[in-house]
Amino acid sequence: MNTKLTSMLQAMSPENDPWDPIRSLQRHGKHILTSVELTVTNLCNMRCEHCAVGDSLTMKEGPRIPVATILQRLDQVEHLETISITGGEPSYHEQSVRDYIVPVLKYARERGIHTQLNSNLTMPIARYEMMAPYLDVMHISFNYTSAQDFHRVGFVRAGRQVSDKAAGKLYETMVENTIALSRGGMFISAESMINYLTLDKLADIHRLIVEMGCQRHEVHPMYPSSFAANLPRLSLDQYSYAIHRLLDSRDRDLWMLFGTLPYYACNTDEAGQRLLQRLRMEPNVTVRNDPDGRNRLNVNLFTGDVYVTDFSDVPSLGNIHTDKFQEVFERWEAHPLHASVNCYCPAVSCCGPNLLVADSYYKGVDFTTRAALI
Ligand code: SF4
Repeated sequence: MNTKLTSMLQAMSPENDPWDPIRSLQRHGKHILTSVELTVTNLCNMRCEHCAVGDSLTMKEGPRIPVATILQRLDQVEHLETISITGGEPSYHEQSVRDYIVPVLKYARERGIHTQLNSNLTMPIARYEMMAPYLDVMHISFNYTSAQDFHRVGFVRAGRQVSDKAAGKLYETMVENTIALSRGGMFISAESMINYLTLDKLADIHRLIVEMGCQRHEVHPMYPSSFAANLPRLSLDQYSYAIHRLLDSRDRDLWMLFGTLPYYACNTDEAGQRLLQRLRMEPNVTVRNDPDGRNRLNVNLFTGDVYVTDFSDVPSLGNIHTDKFQEVFERWEAHPLHASVNCYCPAVSCCGPNLLVADSYYKGVDFTTRAALI
């Protein structure tokens, strides 16, 4: 591979995570819009059991809003720091990579904005190499210890039989792409979910992520959204057990990022406090506050509808044909749900729970009346 893959922006590290909304909160004294997520396709070659946007996936789709329109709207976001590109599988069509994604990434690079793309990395590597010079984070899902796991999880909602051979080939491609792109210098962040299937396998999953050369392992509990809505839900104790075991067995040289955790410093239970304390002390471990509902908006590039996240039940709050992103963000600030999770405890760098977490585990709790207990 002769393409230069290394980002020219300030390198990301446990000390520099541009996606954590706490940074702009600390700088501006309130949440402001610093992050936009673009849903560039609803097509995907997989149908993962846990897919957070599974219900939106389609078999074909119409034309996207012109890239110039999107860039014009992005230009109006004064404090834009990050752009995330998501799907479906954004690289499903080579033409969309070339004519849509690369121009957005180039625009971001020229403005000094960090970029992330969510992908399953199962497409031909040339598509990823096209983006590589302008991309800061290639984000993949990795919840497997073998091709059989991949087959079991990745096509369960496909509505048709996918052969072992076909699934095995895709798994191989994903692993080979991850290894080759990592070797080329791409920052690949592999995300695993803690759920009923991975609970006892996280140490092995972590080892494979290290072996493939990924630069970060992200871990999130799985919450009941879209395809995952009816999967078995784990208890807070089960998540805690899984995280402690993973911390015991991890490679301490690899950055581990935990997100959307359901534990808060204002909780009174000792086990939760102990886990948070451990996460604070562990080297190379960070806990990210959730951008959804804080500093980020998501836009669907077919309808133009703008949401506070790509997977919550909050309906669209505007449309880019008629509204600036900033106007939509102000509508969200006035929304009753926004107020319900809008708390901030500087001592522990926490800015409140994710909306789905609050709904799943803390129904009726008013976080705005709580404070960290340290
Ligand atoms: S910011 Fe909110 S959720 Fe976090 S510790 Fe404080 S009160 Fe609890």
